[in-house]
Order: sequence, then structure tokens, then C-alpha cells
Amino acid sequence: MSSPGQLIEGFARFRKKHFARDDALFRVLVEQGQTPRILVVACCDARVDPALVLDCAPGDLFVIRNVANLVPPAENQGHYHGTSAALEFGVCKLNVGHIIVLGHAHCGGIHALLEGKMQKEDAFISEWMGIAAAASERSSREFADAGSAARHRACEQQAILVSLDNLMTFPWIRERVEQGTLALHGWYFDIERGELLGYNTAARQFEVL
Ligand SMILES: [Zn+2]
Repeated sequence: MSSPGQLIEGFARFRKKHFARDDALFRVLVEQGQTPRILVVACCDARVDPALVLDCAPGDLFVIRNVANLVPPAENQGHYHGTSAALEFGVCKLNVGHIIVLGHAHCGGIHALLEGKMQKEDAFISEWMGIAAAASERSSREFADAGSAARHRACEQQAILVSLDNLMTFPWIRERVEQGTLALHGWYFDIERGELLGYNTAARQFEVL
């Protein structure tokens, strides 16, 4: 895919599948509104589209994508909280039952954070990646003698845990988790090995799902 024209051709195929024939999917989605039960926080990375990777249909997932699939802590400084606003809508209005933070291998945002390659002109990115500073410090300390690939993998996975912790700083998320109506999950898509891993809180490690 390299041109908008190819995307328009793609839409024509999509339209033929869902609108030209007697396909009820969008008719139901329009009549009933969206009712996704799962919210996914994923990276902007072009290789990790959750709907494609998890083989979902329109209406299945409420998706938030940002650089390095990070969840900021709940705070009221600043003015424009895109991720927090989308979380609020998904949790408080759509009443999703699950939030999955979906990290991935070879994440450019995490790479920049670990390698300290964020320049001043990347002010938005460096400020944003500061959310994962604790993950960077922990993986650099614990994997100081390991290769850079192991350190990056550890940081990508630690950043997922930071986001899970930050989710619990939103009172309307904490309340629902404690009531048992909302479950949080940390998943990691290994784009090199073609594996999906999930964080096992009891074993305190990521395991193949
Ligand atoms: Zn990424």
C-alpha cells in the first residue's frame, strides 16, 4: 500500500462485502450502536493493528492507539488528554468488561526511550515517553549485562505493567476492577516469533497464550 488510491480500492472491496450484499452487520451496528465488550490500548505502529492481529470484525473492539501503547496516570494538568478521554468513554459510557494493554516487540517508541535518541525537537514524543521512564530504569538496571535485544524486550514488557498500574489510578477504573465488573490484561505481541503473550500476575511473567 503506497497511495490513497489503493485505499479507495480497498474500501470498494469492503463496501461490496458489507453493504452491497445482504449483510446485516452494519445495519445492526447502526441500529443498536456500538457495544464492544473489550477495549484495547495498542501502539500506532503500522504492524500491530489489533483488529487484524486478533482477527476481529467491525464493532468488536474499542481501540485506543498511541505511541508505545502507553496509559498516562490520571491527572488534571495540561488540557488535551486523548487517551484518558477515550478510556473514560470506553469504561464509563460503553461499560467494557475488559481492557487489554497490547504491547509489541520492536517498538520504536521504546527503542527511542532506551537509546536516549529523543531529540529536543521531538518534544511531544519525549514528554509522552516519560510515562514509561520507570520501565526504562528497571529494565536497564536488571538487564545491564544482557544484550540490547533482551533489554528492549524487557522494557517493552515493563512498560505494559506501568500502563496497567496507571489504569488503576483512574477512580472509575479502580472501582470497577474492585467490584469485579472490569478486568485488566497485559498482552505482548511478538512480531518476530509470531506469538501472543499475556502477563501472568501470579507467576509475575509474560507467558504464551
Ligand atoms: Zn510500538
